[in-house]
Amino acid sequence: MSNPILTMIPGPTPVHERVLEALARPTVSHQYPAFVEAYRECLSRWRRIGRSESAQPFVVSGSGTFAMEMALVNLVAPGERVLIVSHGFFGDRWEQIAASFGIECDLLRAEWGQVVSKERLAAQLEGHDYTAVAVTHVDTSSGTEAPVAEYASLLDGRNEYLILDGVCATAGIDERFDDWGLDVLLTGAQKAFGAPPGVAILLVSQRALETRRNRASVPAYSADWLRWLPIMDDPSKYFSTPPVNQILALDEAMGMVLEEGLDARIARHRELAALMREGLAALGLELFTDASCRADTLSVIRHREGIDDASFRAAMAGQGVIVAAALGPIAGRAFRVGHMGSIGNAEVERTLGAMRVALGNS
Ligand SMILES: *Cc1c(COP(=O)(O)O)cnc(C)c1O
Repeated sequence: MSNPILTMIPGPTPVHERVLEALARPTVSHQYPAFVEAYRECLSRWRRIGRSESAQPFVVSGSGTFAMEMALVNLVAPGERVLIVSHGFFGDRWEQIAASFGIECDLLRAEWGQVVSKERLAAQLEGHDYTAVAVTHVDTSSGTEAPVAEYASLLDGRNEYLILDGVCATAGIDERFDDWGLDVLLTGAQKAFGAPPGVAILLVSQRALETRRNRASVPAYSADWLRWLPIMDDPSKYFSTPPVNQILALDEAMGMVLEEGLDARIARHRELAALMREGLAALGLELFTDASCRADTLSVIRHREGIDDASFRAAMAGQGVIVAAALGPIAGRAFRVGHMGSIGNAEVERTLGAMRVALGNS
């Protein structure tokens, strides 16, 4: 990668030149045939990446947070109740979205750096009437990967919809829409897809879509699935101008995911995480996240005693490597490094090299 600034945060992640070239193509009409074809291709590639035969793809302007909001308002009516399994900052965000729409919610929270067990989830489901359960696959604040396959097996055959926030996981960690019986899988373009930010990406099960169809209205206008459905079926139609260049870029990034192969890509992320963690151990740095639930897409790293977080990250930036601050209860005591998307071993090595220097200097 020729860019001298290496952005090793948990999103946006570095964007490959092929994707940048797609982004830089002339901006055309959203009804220009070649664009319509690329949009159609992007939607069908997304369904393959989510490993679904029949789910409805949505690719629209927006952030990961917009995709979360879109999922919740279409699926859970005001006054109904959602169960949120939270492993940190992004899990907790569901509560704020629910509150904004008068959706009732209960939170199952794990201690930061750990995950809620399947048994706890089972106990919570007993005797409650939830419309949906929302889970963050990888909580980017705590570095945890939720045991989604276990949660999904618990919900199998039950009525609750399963909403999965894959923003820091999708296209980097195994996800199986059909096998897990997901109702919504959502992500943004700027994390493990390695595309520029600005696109909200969702897969929606047919039963979830049916639920929306059966509601007279939802408290949303441009986040209403039904307004977008005709465009997702035929992208030459118009509802609201799609982000033409960003969709061209995302389509290219998705093409690269499928060229690499999903399984190979997941294995690459596992290897990048292992390489990063060997290097961190050699520097005497410890991970914050419990060993039982560490995500492969990022590392949340405890600062060594006496290290000032802001000066450390400034010393990293001085060498052209950008890492992220920690959030919530570990702010100032840890930092975060993303290792997902289009990066390879060279980027991990460069980051570790910069850390070595920054630790010596700060
Ligand atoms: C980044 C992230 C989000 C929010 O995405 P935005 O595009 O910043 O709105 C939501 N959930 C998770 C798990 C994330 O990592």
